[in-house]
Amino acid sequence: MKRSILPVFIPHLGCPHNCVFCDQKQIAARQAPTPAQAAALVEAGLERACRPQIAFYGGSFTAIGREAMMAYLEAVQPFLRDGSCTGIRISTRPDAVDDGVLDLLARYGVDTIELGAQSMSDEVLREAGRGHRAADTAEAARRVKAHGFELILQMMVGLPGSTAEDERQTARQLAALGPDGVRIYPTCVLSHTPLYDLYRRGLYRPLTVDGAVEICADLLDIFEERSVPVIRLGLNPTEELSGGAVKAGAYHPALGELVFSERFYRRMLPLLPRGVPCTVMVPEKMLSIAIGQKKRNLERFRQAGCIISIRGEKDCLRPEIRPL
Ligand code: SF4
Repeated sequence: MKRSILPVFIPHLGCPHNCVFCDQKQIAARQAPTPAQAAALVEAGLERACRPQIAFYGGSFTAIGREAMMAYLEAVQPFLRDGSCTGIRISTRPDAVDDGVLDLLARYGVDTIELGAQSMSDEVLREAGRGHRAADTAEAARRVKAHGFELILQMMVGLPGSTAEDERQTARQLAALGPDGVRIYPTCVLSHTPLYDLYRRGLYRPLTVDGAVEICADLLDIFEERSVPVIRLGLNPTEELSGGAVKAGAYHPALGELVFSERFYRRMLPLLPRGVPCTVMVPEKMLSIAIGQKKRNLERFRQAGCIISIRGEKDCLRPEIRPL
């Protein structure tokens, strides 16, 4: 059964790194909650949550300092004890995961660990200022799984120096680590980041939304072929992101839908007859994905010589081509 997530953002105040895309220090300066405030945030979210899991997001949870980390975990224990929350998930860096900290997390009821892998190319990681290598991700993933946690890996596309082939290769390597899910984030250029400086100086060319959709559709295939669920595509839309914090790059509030739409187009095009009128029936809930934003897919099918209409049907289980 699905669990909802109650997110608590713990920006990484003391982070010694300077990842080019990261604005956590900017956010941290104004938003780090105290443990008591973190507990209050969880309490406030309980009403609309279903089997909630508390999630400490926003930085590198295991690198914020042992005392601070334990204070946050301690503050939310009452919700686990009284059964109002089902577990805790944290996100962290691959080089901040050792056996000692994993034992500690397990004792506090953490059951899911998300690792910011970002790329499996050491050169891309170096250019991004990540301060860790691909081997750290492989080792951290192995430890997390060996301790019995659910493992989620995060990767980025469009980082400086990264090619589409680097990203496909990263997806293959991450899938081989056996994660329970992955998140894919196209790089966005946020204000107050080193990446924004590089962009303004003409030293970084960001991905377009269309470019991100193309590569993410490839990655979706790679993960699905290996039975790895893609649990997120693109940054969660927020008022701040949609309101101007993103200066350039592949930000779109419905990026996931665009990617699934691209994939529908790629899969259907070889199957459709040319010059013969037909209807493509799809499950009702898939209709907007099939047609594409602003009817883009319909337009592209027609440009390719297909004479089609697309209709949603409640009882339809999978796309079906019906001649007229
Ligand atoms: S993304 Fe990089 S700079 Fe930002 S908090 Fe994580 S490790 Fe630190």
